[in-house]
Order: sequence, then C-alpha cells, then structure tokens
Amino acid sequence: MSLAVTGAVLAGERIGLRAEEGVIIEFGPGVRPRAEDELLDAGGALLVPGLINGHTHAAMTLFRGYGDDLPLMQWLEEKIWPIERKLEPDDVYWGTRLACLEMVRSGTVRFWDMYWHPEAAARAVRDAGLRATVAAPLIDAGGRSEALREAARRSLDELAVLEDGVEAGLAPHAIYTVSEDSLRWIGELAAERGLPIHIHLSETEQEVNDCLAAHRLRPAHYLDGLGLLSPGTLLAHGVWLDESELELIAERGAVIVTNPVANLKLAVGRVFPYLRARSAGVQVGLGTDGPGSNNSLDLFADVKVFALLHKHEARDSAAVTAEEAWQIATGRRAPLLGAARSLNVGQPADFLLLREGAPELSFGELAPALVYAASGAVVQSTVVAGRVLMRDGLIEGAEEVLSHALERARRLGLAPLSPRQRPR
Ligand SMILES: [Zn+2]
Repeated sequence: MSLAVTGAVLAGERIGLRAEEGVIIEFGPGVRPRAEDELLDAGGALLVPGLINGHTHAAMTLFRGYGDDLPLMQWLEEKIWPIERKLEPDDVYWGTRLACLEMVRSGTVRFWDMYWHPEAAARAVRDAGLRATVAAPLIDAGGRSEALREAARRSLDELAVLEDGVEAGLAPHAIYTVSEDSLRWIGELAAERGLPIHIHLSETEQEVNDCLAAHRLRPAHYLDGLGLLSPGTLLAHGVWLDESELELIAERGAVIVTNPVANLKLAVGRVFPYLRARSAGVQVGLGTDGPGSNNSLDLFADVKVFALLHKHEARDSAAVTAEEAWQIATGRRAPLLGAARSLNVGQPADFLLLREGAPELSFGELAPALVYAASGAVVQSTVVAGRVLMRDGLIEGAEEVLSHALERARRLGLAPLSPRQRPR
C-alpha cells in the first residue's frame, strides 16, 4: 500500500510526500506520485502533525450529556457507575467507533484509552484506522485483589491479538480504588511484560488528604514506593501535585497528561501546576478525559484552554507560548505518548492537511493560528499510517457509526436528542 500527497504547504513551500507501509519514504518539493500510489491532492492545504490525546475513556461518547452539571462523586455514583454495569462489548465498540470518528474529524491520530471491554475498544480503533494504547480500568472491588489480577490477565490475553497501531497497557484506576498489594503487583507485571501504566493521580484534594491520612505520603511518593513511577508511567491529571512530587516524577521520567477542560468542568478546585512541572523537567502531554466529562474530543479546544489557563494563573501572557502548547498537544514533549518524532523520511505517515483558505489560518503566524484561532473544523484530511481516514472532510461510513452508537445509547436507556427535540 502506497500513498502520494501532492500540493501540500509546509513553511510556505509547496511539497509532496510518498508513504509505503505506513512510513514516509519521500518528502520534499520534488516528490512525484508513482502509478501504483493512492493519490491525495492537498490543493494547497497546510501539512501539520496529528494531535495526541493522552487521556480519555473513548466509549463514554454514549454518556455525553448524561448527568452534566453534577458534582463529580454524585455524577459517578448516581449516573455513570449504575449504567456502566449494563455495558456490553458492543456498546463499547460503537461508543469507541464514534469517538474515533470525532477524533479523525478533529485531527487526533493517537490516543490513550482506559475503559471497560478493552478488546472491543481495540477492535474499534483498528476498524477506524487510528492508533491507541488501550487498557481496562483495574479496580479492587471490596478488597478482592484476586479478582483484579484475573481481570488484568484476562484483558491482556484478549488484547494479545492486537494489530499494528493498537497497543496494550495496564490501567490501575487510581490509588484510592486499588489496594497497595494490587498496585505493587501491577508495577511488577508492567516491568515484566514491558507494558505502560496509565493511572489517574492527584485529581482532587480529597485524594491527597486520604493518601496522607492512610500512608503518611503524598500520592506520587506513595506510588513511587510501590514501584509504579517509571519512564513507562502515564499520570493523568496531577492537579494537586506539590514541588517535591513534581521533582520525583521528573527524575523517574514519568509523564503527566493534563486535562484542563475536564478539570474545569468538574471544578476540581485547582489548576495543574504546569509552570512548576516544566521547570522541574516533567514531560507533559494533553488529554480531553472522557467525552462524558469534557464533553468534546476536539483537542484544538483543549490546547487553547491549556495555554490560556496557564497564562492566566501566572498573570503573565508570555508564560506559555502557542508554539509550546502546540508541541504538547502533538505529543512532542513526552515520547512515551507515541507521536511521530517529526514529519520526515523514515517517520510514521501520520499527519493532517488543514483547509487552504480557512480564515482562522489565513493571518499571522501558524502556531498562534492553530492554538488560539482554529478548531477541529479546520482539518480537511487525516492520514494515519499512510491511510487516508478522512479525505476532504469525508469519512467513509460515518453515518452508520453514528446510528449504531445512538442505538446502543437507547439500549442503555439513555435518551439521545431526537430530531424533533433538536433546536432549529
Ligand atoms: Zn479519566
């Protein structure tokens, strides 16, 4: 399978590229398509790397708009957990397909997922053509650690048949839902099998207070003592981390994925200390968190909020530049997240073409245009592993995916807006 892109614009210059077996093999102004190539005429569109969503629960598209504006624990206990008990693999499959559709449309090429029935999520990722690291949330229900171990092993067995582009991880849900013994066991299993760990950490003040009360340690120190902080660890949130924890995380080479929109919506009461994390040398990525609590998967929105929030917190509009925010959104500040290193020969053919003539992109410098002015609507075509997933705004089978997802939501007793209810 080979692909040729012509007429793309990079740094003001018209270029082309060719990809074979998912890898860029020719790149530059003189590239000519070959007879066997699938053709993608960019028509002057801008060539940029794809976005990386470092933390989500993709299938929660089905729960979008269900229990909005409730406090976190009430939302989980009264709305989400009861309905999650009814989830079947097909619900997760179509919910994840819908998430993938939205990600392709808004320029995300890879994501980190933590959700039930991960084998169904993995199939959805494969069928959508995206890349992802998927993992089942591991929870010690009622202190039964054997059940957790069984669930972890089962999910890894089910994920063992994954295709290119989909990778398995281990996702202990959080330090307050997984016991000390189980966390230690997960750390050992991850090291033994070379798997990444994906965990929520320090999202609320309550979590920090409970950890101090139970272990006399703050969350990152506690996790480190159990062997879970390593270059293969992805920590989602990190809102309440202090200086000593940030230094420790930097030293261990773990990654923090910040989810500014979800944190604001759930009113967690503090802003992730990004500037302190940056000076400590922590690797940082960006995530949406689940579409049940964001409620969007359009990372263009999150990157803007990220930049603005930290400028505002620092009372310094120069505290975070658009270029820096864009690097974070494209995974360039945290190699664990799995982004292509650059757009060039030998690198994965993962990239976006942004609409030529989009007003948001027609003035000034590119990075501020992307971060402050653009939305996912500027994405014209999305290519992952040399496959064109969206061509000129069209994604094959999009209507079918939406109708299946709506059907699954209805099955769960959720009430999607019917055409009659939709405001005109
Ligand atoms: Zn989450």
